[in-house]
Amino acid sequence: MSAATQGFATSLYELEHGLLSIYLTNRCNLRCRHCSTGSSPSEASFLNLDRDTMSRLRQGIDEAGIQGIHVSGGEPFLRREDLRKLAALAREKGVLMAINSNGFWGSSLERATSLLESMPGITELILSTDVYHAEYLSPGKLIVAAQAALACDLLVSVVSTTPGGRPSAWSEQFDEDLRAAGIRPQVRHLYQVLGPTARAQPLAEVVQFMSPELPPGRCDLLNRPTLLENGRLHACCNTTTARTCQGSPLDLGDVASAPLARLLRNGRERKLLQAMRRLGPAVLAGGLTPSQRARLPAMYPKNDICALCTELMTSAANVATLEHALEAGSMKLLFDAAGCLIDADDPAARC
Ligand code: SF4
Ligand code: SF4
Repeated sequence: MSAATQGFATSLYELEHGLLSIYLTNRCNLRCRHCSTGSSPSEASFLNLDRDTMSRLRQGIDEAGIQGIHVSGGEPFLRREDLRKLAALAREKGVLMAINSNGFWGSSLERATSLLESMPGITELILSTDVYHAEYLSPGKLIVAAQAALACDLLVSVVSTTPGGRPSAWSEQFDEDLRAAGIRPQVRHLYQVLGPTARAQPLAEVVQFMSPELPPGRCDLLNRPTLLENGRLHACCNTTTARTCQGSPLDLGDVASAPLARLLRNGRERKLLQAMRRLGPAVLAGGLTPSQRARLPAMYPKNDICALCTELMTSAANVATLEHALEAGSMKLLFDAAGCLIDADDPAARC
């Protein structure tokens, strides 16, 4: 059965809750200069989707109210059998399933369509391209991958990473190419900010978008967890900082040691995480001691709160100070007034 017959019209981007990301592998066939996960052909880690893990996922989807699965990497299409298993699970459970890809498999429309048809259960394809990907891979392949996905009635998005997260001359030319292929109206083109993570860190255009201001804003992406390739559950969908955050409050634990739903509930009940969700890292930084504040980095990427969040979460001393401030100290009133705590039993508050 092709995905066309499943009747899904909702994008994962529209899900307000119930989204589980799966970081399938850190391996990639490309080595883009801006890669925020540091993926490359020499990386070999992948999530072991053995019978036990699949059964935990099956149980977790029911118990945690998961409505959509988002598979990313690295390049997920290097793990085709794993994608077929996940797609079959999504179809069995009637949930959405989106896959991120660089589209390298789009060399012929016929082969690309048949590849997608071999994975019934996928509902959406999220393709990545920008000036950095184009150094390794022709955007033409991506257009063929998008055409194949549309032929299978999948939703299609393209994500481009640019300095400041704004359209560039390159991305506008890519839109022209989509128009010439007759598929621009069906493809949603989104942008994300080029941040100072992994291989992107030394790029001149990243440095140019750094600012001494603490970035304002709260985190809408908390409670959108990610199952990492090492089997640990991360509290948000930022896979670029997940490895740095291992052992921090954002690291919810190993899915082999506790049911997925239990780990998610622990995250929903942890005050520091819920304060990050409702207040954001710049407000939370106000709860640090003066000496802790003085040790924070001098510069942050504009429009990107994750670097500051990571800084707060990965220091045991910062975490201890903030947890005390939220529990009984200077930030308790603010925490209560902002209604940070969510009802862990409310389905709408689930992951
Ligand atoms: S940016 Fe994407 S395509 Fe490029 S190396 Fe990283 S994971 Fe691979
Ligand atoms: S602000 Fe923190 S919790 Fe939110 S997405 Fe970024 S790293 Fe994750």
